[in-house]
Amino acid sequence: MNIRLSKRQNEIVKIVREKGPISGEEIASYLNLARATLRPDLSFLTMSGLLEARPKVGYYYTGKSIENALGDILKQNKVSDIKGLPVAVSEETSVYDAIVTLFLEDVGTIFVVDENNYLKGVASRKDFLKITLGDNDLGKMPVGIVMTRWPNIVTLRDEDTALSAAKKVEEFQVDCIPVISDDNVEEQAELTGRVSKTHLVKLLAEIDEQR
Ligand code: ADP
Repeated sequence: MNIRLSKRQNEIVKIVREKGPISGEEIASYLNLARATLRPDLSFLTMSGLLEARPKVGYYYTGKSIENALGDILKQNKVSDIKGLPVAVSEETSVYDAIVTLFLEDVGTIFVVDENNYLKGVASRKDFLKITLGDNDLGKMPVGIVMTRWPNIVTLRDEDTALSAAKKVEEFQVDCIPVISDDNVEEQAELTGRVSKTHLVKLLAEIDEQR
């Protein structure tokens, strides 16, 4: 992975390496800039772990590479910080209605739950495409027929890190992972959210916005 700092961010890191611990005011005066102008750069550099800020002490250099630092961000952010609302239907819902829900909710994966909101299955775009290839009556066919079910569902919990979510997406080649409550056995796990590839990309994009 190759991540580059902006010219100004590099200048800040250099100043802090040489003069740290140093206050934001002092860094600003070395650069002939207002303190407020530096705020986004300083927050990016501290968030990414290159610099650390101690109250009443100032900024100092941590010695970490940006790659290590980004790994830290993926570890510091929990699934509960990045998850979105799940889109779920019941097992009896027709494949036709499930596909309509997929479009209306603008998602690529639908979860299937029972009346207690316990997770029963996962149905993705490809599952729906596969069933439409056959000569099937989609309005009569329940979504339960096409979904992936226990024990084959890959899940996450709130306390898992964004890094472990990314690793599961990669390892199991899935686009979206359901988040289940902590205190239940899997077959009786309440569905509380979802983490998709988009949530992970968003996390990385937010880091970049701070630059
Ligand atoms: P797509 O259909 O766009 O390729 P996925 O790669 O996510 O989407 O799905 C591929 C297969 O994996 C589908 O059969 C789907 O049911 C299954 N699947 C999707 N998400 C999960 C998950 N979290 N756990 C287990 N299986 C999943």
